[in-house]
Amino acid sequence: MKTLKVALLGCGNVGSQVARILTEDADALAERVGARLQLAGIAVRNPDTPREVELDPALFTTDADTLVSEADLVIELMGGVEPARSLMLSAIGHGASVITGNKALLAEDGPTLYEKADAAGVQLSFEAAVAGAIPILRPIRDSLAGDRITRVLGIVNGTTNYVLDQMDTTGAQFDDALADAKALGYAEADPTADIEGYDAAAKGAILASLAFHTRFPRSEVHCEGITSVTAEDIAAARDAGYVIKLLSICELQDDDDGGGVAVRVHPTLLPREHPLAAVHGAFNAVFVEAESAGELMFYGQGAGGTPTASAVLGDLVTAARRIVLGGPGRTESASSQLPVRGIGTAETSYYVGLDVADESGVLAKIAQVFADHGVSIETMRQTTHLDLVRPAERAADEDATPPASAELRIVTHRGAEDALARTVEAVKKLEPVNSVTSVLRVEGV
Ligand code: NAP
Repeated sequence: MKTLKVALLGCGNVGSQVARILTEDADALAERVGARLQLAGIAVRNPDTPREVELDPALFTTDADTLVSEADLVIELMGGVEPARSLMLSAIGHGASVITGNKALLAEDGPTLYEKADAAGVQLSFEAAVAGAIPILRPIRDSLAGDRITRVLGIVNGTTNYVLDQMDTTGAQFDDALADAKALGYAEADPTADIEGYDAAAKGAILASLAFHTRFPRSEVHCEGITSVTAEDIAAARDAGYVIKLLSICELQDDDDGGGVAVRVHPTLLPREHPLAAVHGAFNAVFVEAESAGELMFYGQGAGGTPTASAVLGDLVTAARRIVLGGPGRTESASSQLPVRGIGTAETSYYVGLDVADESGVLAKIAQVFADHGVSIETMRQTTHLDLVRPAERAADEDATPPASAELRIVTHRGAEDALARTVEAVKKLEPVNSVTSVLRVEGV
C-alpha cells in the first residue's frame, strides 16, 4: 500500500486531537483512503510543552519549512495569519494539498490561497473553519452544487450563543453571562473577537463565498456584536414570542439592479418556533434555504478539540483519496462573482422599543412617521407604567398621579434596511419620544 506523508502544523486544542486520531486509527484510515497516512512530523513553537495526548517526542520540530517541503498533505492548525499563510503557500508550491481550520486567514486572504491551489492542481480544504464539527461547507459546495442557495442563516459562534442563551434562560445581564462563559471555558480571556461579532463575520464571508460562487471579502460584512444586548431586550423579546440570537446572515438579493450578495452579522429576533431558536448553549447551527432543496438545518458542536478534529480528518481523508485516485477537486468556485452589497439594501424587519410620553395622539404621530418612510407596522404594543404597578399598591394610593410615560414595542413588516434606519432616526426626533430603548432586527417570520 502506498504511503502519504502528512505534516501537522500546530499541536494545540485541535492539532493534538488530530495527531491522536491519526495515530490511533491509522489502520482504519488507511483502508478508507487506499494509502497509509504517515504522520511525518508536528511543527510547534516549543517542542517541550506538555501535550494533552501522548505522542512520540521525535515527531516534534520547530522547523516547519522543512517539514512542509517533504509532505504530500499539510494540516495547518497553528492559527493566525503568519507564518500560517507562508507555510500554506509553500506547501501548495511543493504540490501538497492543504487542510486548515484557520477562518481568520481565509477571511483575510482566502482568494490568494484558492487561486494558488487551483493553479497548482492541489486541494485546499477548510471544513473546520466554519462551525467546528458540523459538515456544512462540503454540503454547500458539493451536495448543493446543482441547486440555487438563496439564504444562509448561521449561529456560528458558540460563545455568543452561550451568553445569549444564558441571558434568555436565567435573566442574567450580559456581563454576568459572559463571566459564566469564561469560567466554563466557552469564552477566551479576551473575548473581543467573539462578542463583537468578528469571528462570526469571518465565517459569514466564507459561507457566502461558497454558497453564492462569489468571493466575498470580510471587509464587506456588516458586523454588530452582542455587547449592547441587555436583559431588558431579552425579556421584551421573550414577552413578544421571540428569542435573540447572533446570526450570520448571507443573502442572495434578486432585484431589478441585477442582484447581488450581502452578508450581515447582528443580534436578531427569531420567533421561538424557528428551528434556530432551539439551538442552546455553545452549540452551532446553520440554516440553509435553497430553491429546490427548500430548508435544511445543520446542527452540532461548533468548537472543541475533538469535534473540530473530526472535520479536519474528514478533509484529510477526502484529499488523500483524491491523491490516490488522481485528479484534484476544486477548492471553491467564483464563477458567479455577483456584486457584493452593503447592509443598506438588505430586507429585514425591525423591532423597535420606545419610551414615550403617555399622552393622546402619540401613537398616531409615530405611526405617521413610519408611513412617511414607507415602512409598514406589523404590531404595536403599549405598556403604560401604571400597568406595572400591582393592583394592591394601586388601591393603597388612589390619588397617584397618572404615569408620565409609556413603553411602546413596534415590530415592522419586512422593508429595506435603509428605510428602516431612517425611520428610527426620524422617530427619535419626535417630541413625545423620550428615548429609543432598543432596535433589533427580526428574521424567520
Ligand atoms: P491552539 O490551541 O492555540 O494551538 C496552536 C498550536 O500552533 C500550538 O501547538 C502552537 O505551538 C502552534 N503554533 C502557533 N504559532 C506557531 C508558530 N509560529 N510556529 C510553530 N507553531 C506554532 O489553537 P487551536 O485552538 O488548536 O486552533 C488551531 C486552529 O483551528 C485555529 O486557526 C483556530 O481558529 C481553528 N479552530 C479552532 C477551533 C477550536 O475549537 N479550538 C474550532 C474551529 C477552528 P506551541 O504548542 O508550541 O505553543
